[in-house]
Amino acid sequence: MSTEVVAVSAVSAEQQQSPSAPAQQNAVEKVNLLGMSRPQMEKFFEDMGEKKFRAGQVMKWIHQFFVTDFAEMTNISGKLREKLEKICEIKAPEVVHKNYSKDGTRKWVFRVGDGEGSLVETVLIPAEHRSGLRCTLCISSQVGCALDCSFCSTGKQGFQRDLNQAEIIGQLWMANYSYMEDVPVLERERSVTNVVMMGMGEPLLNYDAVLNSMRTMLDDFAYGMSKRRVTLSTSGVVPKIDQMVKDIDVALAISLHAPNDELRNKLVPINKKYPLEQLIAACKRYIEKDGNESSRKHVTIEYVMLDGVNDHPEHAQQMIKLLKNLPSKINLIPFNPFPHAPYGRSSRNRIISFQKTLSDAGFVCTIRQTRGDDIDAACGQLVGQVADRTRRAEQWKKKVAQQNEILRSQG
Ligand code: SF4
Repeated sequence: MSTEVVAVSAVSAEQQQSPSAPAQQNAVEKVNLLGMSRPQMEKFFEDMGEKKFRAGQVMKWIHQFFVTDFAEMTNISGKLREKLEKICEIKAPEVVHKNYSKDGTRKWVFRVGDGEGSLVETVLIPAEHRSGLRCTLCISSQVGCALDCSFCSTGKQGFQRDLNQAEIIGQLWMANYSYMEDVPVLERERSVTNVVMMGMGEPLLNYDAVLNSMRTMLDDFAYGMSKRRVTLSTSGVVPKIDQMVKDIDVALAISLHAPNDELRNKLVPINKKYPLEQLIAACKRYIEKDGNESSRKHVTIEYVMLDGVNDHPEHAQQMIKLLKNLPSKINLIPFNPFPHAPYGRSSRNRIISFQKTLSDAGFVCTIRQTRGDDIDAACGQLVGQVADRTRRAEQWKKKVAQQNEILRSQG
């Protein structure tokens, strides 16, 4: 196997702390500047008695030149650098595994938290695009997930905790740094072109940290990414979709996976709380807010293809009906089986026929290329191998076997 598996201790294993005011510092615990948004860092500098424009300077060093040593921040006075050195740090989560696939996909497992901590995953997928090389980073927002979607390896691990801003932005920082490590500081540039908040966890259930992190992604003093190239993917937390309308302008993706409530209740249980009618209405409100903006011209619909479960011709017809008034692009995802998975991947023919039905009805419908099979690139898989933290595996196996049986008998 060509996969390179490397154990690395790039940075300290100590807990990544949330951005906090100077009042919360103590002699031992330094303030981690990595995850702070610009308004948070401006306040931090003002509270120190410094000019707030220092925040922009420091953010550029951190997020555009990938510098962690204050001594290298040459446009900042020696006195301030010394002060920062004493009370601050710039610290990404510890990388415990990194796998680079032969197809260019890269995957990291990060340790977050104290002691043994918890593990989260980040995947980077490079792909040729008509506009050039596109490097899409899939970022995690929580350790595990409480929503327990029946086809999801992360859901199987249960929920442990939310990631803080340093842990979320740290994934983007580290992915960029992995390409720039050996490049002289002033020649470094951003390699990641696109971000999808689609890794472990439901991002809208960690709203504030995800919102501030996405603001840093868009900020010209940090990553300066286009709002079309930052996508938040949700399983359908309807009130938070409405909150996003007020707070930020990024692309929206919905993990749909089923075209009717009965099936979706089984595959994506949050559907019982926010059924399809409410979800589709929220998507429309999101688009209608600013329909001329390119980031909000459509919603991306993610649909994982599960053999014999949601891939029948009538499911495609139900999709057409469900989405007929919602500007959307549909992305069919061949299921990536994981150990004890209750489902199989739909056949290529079944996926192509599903796509044809939707395309013939006028939808833009693509099939996601499976990437990084040799490094278990699907969400939650590698963490599941590195540490199964649920102690629920046996229980879960029985439960999904029963569910699978029911779904198959209904299919
Ligand atoms: S698919 Fe997403 S929301 Fe559902 S359990 Fe997995 S991580 Fe959570």
